[in-house]
Amino acid sequence: VDLEGANQRLEELLACVDHPKAVKEGQRLYCGLDLGTAFIVLVVLDEDGNPVDCKYQFASVVKDGMVVDYVGACDIARKLKGQIEEELGVELEECAVAIPPETGSLDGGAVRNVAESTGMECIAVFDEPTAANLLIGTKDGAVVDIGGGTTGISVFEDGKVVECIDESTGGTHFSLVLAGAKGMTFDDAERYKRQPENHREVLPIVAPTIDKVTSIIQRACSGYDVPEVILVGGTAELTGIEDRVRKHLGIEVHKPNHPMFVTPMGIALGC
Ligand code: ATP
Repeated sequence: VDLEGANQRLEELLACVDHPKAVKEGQRLYCGLDLGTAFIVLVVLDEDGNPVDCKYQFASVVKDGMVVDYVGACDIARKLKGQIEEELGVELEECAVAIPPETGSLDGGAVRNVAESTGMECIAVFDEPTAANLLIGTKDGAVVDIGGGTTGISVFEDGKVVECIDESTGGTHFSLVLAGAKGMTFDDAERYKRQPENHREVLPIVAPTIDKVTSIIQRACSGYDVPEVILVGGTAELTGIEDRVRKHLGIEVHKPNHPMFVTPMGIALGC
């Protein structure tokens, strides 16, 4: 897959966080709300899919894909929407959301209700890796969303999803391993892990957890012809994770710039 277009859009999205674009009165906007284990992200795009604004906040209101603090989730979603509306000077009316694969019957309703509690109408509920692929655009390959609580995988053949799974290993487990190894609290390990200057030290410590993620990818892909794997999600931000996954998987592995923002942007593209 050619990630050049996706990378360019992701750069533009990141630039929007501090410098939102101007919008015209009555302009149609497309919103994606991503309720994650570690972050809540709200992305706004124009009708051509170009980023207009993006706000995000660290939050512990979702665990392994389940909304565990409903009121807290609604408060943060409302706050992010309010910030964007104030910056853009318009009201956000519609949005799309996403949930981890296989959790639809359990939690699709809760995520939709959080979105609607902000006053927006929720017009679509995607599974996370499928949403990510709306930006990535692989026709034959696996999109692997390594988030905070879980790893979600969609396998595509001829542009169609043929396998979609979610398993509970993600960045939270990386932080737990790091906390144990360095005698830190979980919160300190979580912060330490996110600093790029610490990645060279962190990578070998969390290597067994990366290998667990790789075995999950292996299982999801078995029985399919998967020529490439694309890593997205916040945990894919870890420098060098792609090299270790590639080595153990024996399949070509790609990673876009700013992988944490791929799913939120894909959700907005699908809106
Ligand atoms: P889930 O998909 O499991 O519901 P989520 O949507 O919150 O969770 P993401 O936002 O994709 O998941 O990823 C969150 C994880 O990414 C956290 O564990 C966080 O520590 C990790 N993460 C974020 N930034 C970095 C970074 N720069 N380096 C390493 N890990 C990072």
